[in-house]
Amino acid sequence: MAYFIDVILPIPLPKLFTYSITDAESGFLKTGMRVSVPFGKSKIYTALVFKIHTNAPTAYDAKEIHQILDDTPIVNQKQFQLWQWIASYYMCTLGDVMRAALPNAFVLESETVVLKNTIKTIDESTLKDDEFLVYDALNHQSSLKIQDISSILDKKNVLPVIKRLIEKEVISVEEEIYEKYKPKLVRYVKLHTHFTSEKALHGLLEELSRAPKQRQVIMTLFSISAKTRKPVKVSELSSESDASAAIIKALIEKDVLEEYYIQTDRIQYSGGENEATKTLNDYQSTALEHINTSFETQNITLLHGVTSSGKTEVYVKLIEEVVKQGKQVLYLLPEIALTTQLVSRLQNYFGEQVAVYHSKYSSHERVEVWNHVLNKSVKAQIVLGARSSIFLPFDNLGLIIVDEEHEQSFKQFDPAPRYHARDTAVVLAHMHGAKTLLGSATPSLESYFNAKQNKYGFVEITTRYNEVLMPEIELVDIKDKHKRKLMKGHFSDRLIEEMTETLKEGYQIILFQNRRGFSPIVECNTCGHAPQCPNCDVSLTYHQYRSQLRCHYCGYTTAMQISCMACGAQDLDSKGFGTEQIESEVKLLFPDYKVARMDLDTTRGKYGYEKIITALEQQEIDILVGTQMLTKGLDFRNVKLVGIMNADNMLNFPDFRAHERSFQLMLQVSGRAGRTDERGRVLIQTYNPYHNILQQVSTNNYVAMYNEQMNDRYNYKYPPVYKQVKIILKHKDYNKVEAAATWFAKALRHVFGDNVLGPEAPPVARIRNQFHKNILVKIPKKQSLSKTKEAIIKINNSFSSVKDFRSVRVILNVDNF
Ligand code: ADP
Ligand code: ZN
Repeated sequence: MAYFIDVILPIPLPKLFTYSITDAESGFLKTGMRVSVPFGKSKIYTALVFKIHTNAPTAYDAKEIHQILDDTPIVNQKQFQLWQWIASYYMCTLGDVMRAALPNAFVLESETVVLKNTIKTIDESTLKDDEFLVYDALNHQSSLKIQDISSILDKKNVLPVIKRLIEKEVISVEEEIYEKYKPKLVRYVKLHTHFTSEKALHGLLEELSRAPKQRQVIMTLFSISAKTRKPVKVSELSSESDASAAIIKALIEKDVLEEYYIQTDRIQYSGGENEATKTLNDYQSTALEHINTSFETQNITLLHGVTSSGKTEVYVKLIEEVVKQGKQVLYLLPEIALTTQLVSRLQNYFGEQVAVYHSKYSSHERVEVWNHVLNKSVKAQIVLGARSSIFLPFDNLGLIIVDEEHEQSFKQFDPAPRYHARDTAVVLAHMHGAKTLLGSATPSLESYFNAKQNKYGFVEITTRYNEVLMPEIELVDIKDKHKRKLMKGHFSDRLIEEMTETLKEGYQIILFQNRRGFSPIVECNTCGHAPQCPNCDVSLTYHQYRSQLRCHYCGYTTAMQISCMACGAQDLDSKGFGTEQIESEVKLLFPDYKVARMDLDTTRGKYGYEKIITALEQQEIDILVGTQMLTKGLDFRNVKLVGIMNADNMLNFPDFRAHERSFQLMLQVSGRAGRTDERGRVLIQTYNPYHNILQQVSTNNYVAMYNEQMNDRYNYKYPPVYKQVKIILKHKDYNKVEAAATWFAKALRHVFGDNVLGPEAPPVARIRNQFHKNILVKIPKKQSLSKTKEAIIKINNSFSSVKDFRSVRVILNVDNF
């Protein structure tokens, strides 16, 4: 009998491709194993076996496979089930999903570039002949394509050799390698608690009068503390008091000084004892009880807990329970930036059972985690990861936690699959019979709506851990301040007052400005011309630091001009302001304090982000200026004041979710203030203090925000009331994309009538020289989603068969954000 396999190729083909296999191969192969196959004229791909059968394809002659690459499946049936759901729900191909799902090192193809792994020294004697040839070639060349290796070895089927070399860690697949950052441990000292009373201290100083050098150290410690009101570093104490390390060590040994590290828990887990999980306070225990009760009848529960209410500790209790039952846990986070603080918190409790998975990790690390999960190893019983971790080969999931579930970065925008990790997680959990807990201090309207409709369970924590009051939020009317000349640059007198006070007390400040760069628009005062990006329809942003104009859409840069390109007048002015400008104004206003900036520009470097966070934690920064990167659930102990420089540009953003997002963003940044003992304060500067959203933020009134926004969503037929599919058309020729979009919209209107909006040009109508047109299909709840998508696909197919439109790119984005 003739045997065939249907395989998924890692390219966007609408259908699976069929290859023929031998009798013997059919006995060995299982679905979920990889094979290398020829495709097209000369391409070789890694493909995944999806189905084994005996039906020859009718449209073409099935080619033979080259080689089987695995002994056992690397993808399980539950994953295939999830992939199919993703492909169908998000309207993409299984090939698209395969690309997103598998670590790069699993998907070799002719174009793959391999490099020598320089980290590991290789014992050449362990290499087979063909392996050695490749290894040796890489000693002379920095990188090789798979095709090059084919010619070196003089054979077609080289993927098995490459696979072995990857497993032996001789080579790695080219990609951006993300190295782990280990913050340097800084040693601090303080006076031992024995000596806190006046009397004890007196006695100590008396006693030390016979050891003048040691006494000098103590006196210096006092003077540094009094001056800086900050933790005192050993190095600082040593240099200021002119004392050797030995003297300080002696004092520590005598229990006069106590040494400590700030945030020692930031260190990579080194295999020590696990800590017991924390005892929950009453609010947390009640919440935990309610979650458990809710899970008896609901698969999904939303936990709405104010910032710093101790949600994480509640998650930990749930995780503990599920792990005890021997099941796997997935803890999803919106961005890896957040994980550093969390990884160590979880590792303290669960030790080596915690694995971290993120697309920025090197392919070795990703393959390692993949295999641990595949083999149900205890080393990956708890996976902490960004959105791509929903693709891991789980077999026995008991619980998925989606932390900060409102975050938009859970949705992948480009490339396909354009999936939402929160929503996909719910489907994944369902496949495993597992529970899903969504957590946030500012839930998405979608999830809150589902909870209200009883589709999800709902649990609240309204009190902060330690019962610290929620920060006091004050709205500052900057229109009025301008009128009364009470502004210094972009700072109101109120903000400066509060900053001065906070710094004097030794606390830290966060300033939030939602734009990076110095100023978004440079304009000529004579003719009004503003320099534009040559590739995109946006004005360039001025970055003072490099004296550059930059496009935030395509990365184009040019030197800042002295005179106007249009009229030549030397009268350029900048409008609006970004983080860079705020930073330089703060430096002028508070020259004695350390100011740092956290945005895309300062965190680009390898450890950029972590360095800034560590510096803030270690109180080396007094004032941190940043973009929304600051909002992401970070737990800083000593921040007491948060200033939002301008609330208006967020509110005016042209998007139906702009108000919801502004609310979430502002409450989240506010949540960074006063997390430990002292109540924090938040100042929001705005031209429009009576804006409803700002009123709702200042009273921390989520429900009022929800009701008002939902009203709009009902009236204008937006999610979560209606579902929607956005269709984006792109082409470099404006007339062509215009004609194509008109055709497409007309065909859609024919089926869906008034529920089709557009075509319209987005706010930035040209990006990277491609003109964009958007069409929106709104889908009422009672209309079948699958039928709607079928109709859209049908229209898309007829569209592609119009010769004129073939070069127009069409993007289908389901549940667009
Ligand atoms: P959230 O995730 O709700 O913002 P966290 O879980 O980060 O809040 O908790 C805020 C702070 O309170 C953290 O520093 C945490 O360690 C501390 N905390 C929370 N719950 C407890 C508890 N039960 N015992 C001791 N400390 C706790
Ligand atoms: Zn551009």
